[in-house]
Amino acid sequence: AQALSQKLSSLAWQGEKKSVAIIGGGLSGLACAKYLADAGHTPLVLEARDVLGGKVSAWQDEDGDWIETGLHIFFGAYPNMMNLFAELGIHDRLQWKVHKMIFAMQELPGEFTTFDFIPGIPAPFNFGLAILLNQKMLTLQEKLQTAPPLLPMLIQGQDFIDAQDELSVLDFMRKYGMPDRINEEVFISMAKALDFIDPDKLSMTVVLTAMNRFLNEDNGLQMAFLDGNQPDRLCAPMKAHIEARGGEVRLKAPVKEIMTNEDGSVSGLLMRDGTVIEADVYVSAMPVDIMKRMTPKRWAKMPFFRQFDELEGIPVINLHMWFDKKLNTIDHLCFSRSPLLSVYADMSTTCKEYFDDEKSMLELVFAPCSPLAGGNVNWIAKTDEEIIDATMGELARLFPTEIANDDRWPATKEQGPKGQARLIKFAVVKTPRSVYAAIPGRNKYRPSQETPISNFVLAGDWTSQKFLGSMEGAVLGGKLAAEVIADKALGRPTNGLKAVQPDIVTAAESYEAK
Ligand code: FAD
Repeated sequence: AQALSQKLSSLAWQGEKKSVAIIGGGLSGLACAKYLADAGHTPLVLEARDVLGGKVSAWQDEDGDWIETGLHIFFGAYPNMMNLFAELGIHDRLQWKVHKMIFAMQELPGEFTTFDFIPGIPAPFNFGLAILLNQKMLTLQEKLQTAPPLLPMLIQGQDFIDAQDELSVLDFMRKYGMPDRINEEVFISMAKALDFIDPDKLSMTVVLTAMNRFLNEDNGLQMAFLDGNQPDRLCAPMKAHIEARGGEVRLKAPVKEIMTNEDGSVSGLLMRDGTVIEADVYVSAMPVDIMKRMTPKRWAKMPFFRQFDELEGIPVINLHMWFDKKLNTIDHLCFSRSPLLSVYADMSTTCKEYFDDEKSMLELVFAPCSPLAGGNVNWIAKTDEEIIDATMGELARLFPTEIANDDRWPATKEQGPKGQARLIKFAVVKTPRSVYAAIPGRNKYRPSQETPISNFVLAGDWTSQKFLGSMEGAVLGGKLAAEVIADKALGRPTNGLKAVQPDIVTAAESYEAK
């Protein structure tokens, strides 16, 4: 991560400087602009909305409470993200939590169990020990049966990991004889936390990739919360950095169309207000589902762009629930292990800006949200009230002594019937297409940042890089896009185009644009 940053800033005084128009002001577009500015180029970020951040965007409601698109956790094993915080001089904004993983006990309401990482023990032994020391989730026999199928990951590394992409987590478990309870105890919560989908749908490569990153670094699995909302605490310093070096970040600037010349190269960006923006190079940092719609007709039969048909964003819902009193919660992320919910945190405890010692605000990720992701209920199409009702049912089941669900919100009494906390306010944020659905066999279709179009480059968490659809993947995707542009500007060789799969090449030949 650091080497790539250094390479880009060392290019600042060399070669021809390019103007670069970047579509999308999420973390990937902003990272691309930041590293282009470091390399001496002039980026212009065009963000459609009135807020930066895309999937990390947040806004204030009429009471001044922050509403976030997603509950976001940073990991020690996010090298590009950590580097970015250091480069911006804002690393003190990460609130690191004790190095452990906390799981709610399904069968023991109100109780938690932990994987504790003992300080001073190096990776991967600290992870092994954390699992061995936990007595509540798996028996010794189950632990011993789980380890051997995972060993090739440590020995063969990425080749073994990539080769498992055709298998779902459940397929992998069955193939290697892992006990079913590992799924219920560990993989369901892991799959939902990583990609908002169930393990029978998720590619095993995703689980192995995450484990491999976490296992290779002593603090890989240590988690941090940002100390406040992402647009102010992370995106604003990125914008300031870009603008201090001659770039620009524009809000409320939706791009309507990518215009092309007869040879297929980009001639300009048609904005929704009818103006046209011209630059030397163009970058899409849009999510894959939007990029599919925006692909110019002239490129439609090119195999590179037909790869996008194989990728699709997964739905997810982020909930904020304010209670009338402080819950007995933990200063950390919790894995709910409930069928409806993924991870959650009491933000009134975990996050400095949202701190409140009288009332709790739980932020929860609701997943899976559609049959594509698992289960058979299309939650993403349900009303906010239906989603909150179902969540309250789950919370009352998981924490019966703390949360009451026997009366409807908003709270009309001071507190619940048995002194439990009651819901006083909620906010539901639906993202119908979030990170790409990492179902089996998708990795090979993730495109390189370099494209066959000479003046068009891709960024975004879904482009090919060794991290998943995540904040780290978004930053790395943007940084790699900047590297392509910086190398080309100097006439240097790039990392090259990623090969397109033969099935896509065949499909592209017979493709008829609709
Ligand atoms: P986006 O954030 O989608 O940015 C794309 C931008 O392009 C948007 O701002 C959009 O408005 C803009 N745009 C689109 N079309 C146009 C147009 N025509 N003109 C101009 N602009 C346009 N990751 C983690 O690492 N840890 C977590 O704990 C985590 N939790 C998550 C929880 C939830 C609920 C969600 C939804 C995501 C979570 N993620 C997490 C994933 C992470 O947020 C994303 O991977 C990352 O933010 C994606 O960044 P991006 O820049 O690639 O895309």
